[in-house]
Amino acid sequence: MKARGDRLSAAGMLTELAAIGEDPQGGITRFLYDPAWRQAQQAVARMMREAGLAVSIDAVGNVYGKLEGTDREAPSIVTGSHIDTVKCGGRYDGALGIAAGIAALAKLKRSSGQPRRTLEVVSFCEEEGSRFPLAYWGSGNVTGCKLFDGSLDAVDAQGISLREAMAGAGYKPAAHRASRRTNIAAFVELHIEQGEVLEREQRQIGIVDAIYGQRRYFVDIAGRSGHAGTTPMPLRADALAAAANMIVWLRKAALEAGDGLVATVGKLEVSPGIPNVIPGNVRYSLDIRHRDEAVIEAFCAEAFQTFAAMAEKHRVTVQQTCWLSEPPSPPMDAGLKERLARICEASGYSHMPIGSGAGHDAGLFARTCRTAMIFVPSRDGISHSPLEYTAPEDIERGADVLTKLLYQLAYELAERV
Ligand SMILES: [Zn+2]
Repeated sequence: MKARGDRLSAAGMLTELAAIGEDPQGGITRFLYDPAWRQAQQAVARMMREAGLAVSIDAVGNVYGKLEGTDREAPSIVTGSHIDTVKCGGRYDGALGIAAGIAALAKLKRSSGQPRRTLEVVSFCEEEGSRFPLAYWGSGNVTGCKLFDGSLDAVDAQGISLREAMAGAGYKPAAHRASRRTNIAAFVELHIEQGEVLEREQRQIGIVDAIYGQRRYFVDIAGRSGHAGTTPMPLRADALAAAANMIVWLRKAALEAGDGLVATVGKLEVSPGIPNVIPGNVRYSLDIRHRDEAVIEAFCAEAFQTFAAMAEKHRVTVQQTCWLSEPPSPPMDAGLKERLARICEASGYSHMPIGSGAGHDAGLFARTCRTAMIFVPSRDGISHSPLEYTAPEDIERGADVLTKLLYQLAYELAERV
């Protein structure tokens, strides 16, 4: 039997949450509104109650734990992250921010009593986009940043609609907009880095400065299939040879651009895909990310101009189709970043500013209120995998920095942030 204090530590709660939704194929699978998801949100609600917080659940299933402040009119200081996972995900992505948030509020209540400003920890119902073709169902509804028009009719891989899944979990589908909040002054999210920058730079804490925007395209190349033995080289219209040139150019151009720009070709379809036939058609995916929309725009423009010239040389045609365009989040709040840096220094933790190539709930809050994000190292940069790992000391340091920032914002600040 573990002691109460141990169970309410961030590491203790993470261990408990990791046992909910264990996937037979390894890792954890908790999809929005499925049985494991429900069990996890119930466990989170119980942990919040044990921490002495007032629990409420909103119209889409976001679970809140509240520590009421003496200034009841002032908007809240909120921390948290998401409870859902990808298929066969790890135990830290999302869950860390919830567990550390509950631990922080429990500790503050115990050591400092009632805050001046109301403090809340939230376990968002969905962020990953794993079950339905939509993401940020939790924070998108809370911030009002996502309208989700028509989303209730979206279906999962089993053909179950979001509307049906909501009703099955006991929620009223049409009421999803009721989860909107307009009384949040600041949002702080602790998350694993999901990359290897902190590990490589040997820093303990990352202070996020920006969450990258991203564009995703399909690039279609049309050439001409032909006999691999009888078609002379100068007469070919080889779609794959053209694609290969483009992919090599993308890597070189992204490396030269530097400054955090990333370009990825992750999927390549070759047709007809026969060893003795010249490829007539190719479709490949293109994913481009950077913190500045103008940089993404300029990179894409240059790439597509280059592709057109390459296509001409290869006697093929090329066409790009954009199917996802997510703008970068506004910058994280300068004042909160400064506070985080000072907290790290006073605590003896090494730290650095860092960009996030992955999307996060904090990115939506940055559009509506003062927002900060704290990263802790991910071993080998691995995430969305059962191999995801963050050392207990890193969890402790992250939770400590989060607790100290929340203390400043809710107990010390006289003015309303
Ligand atoms: Zn996450």
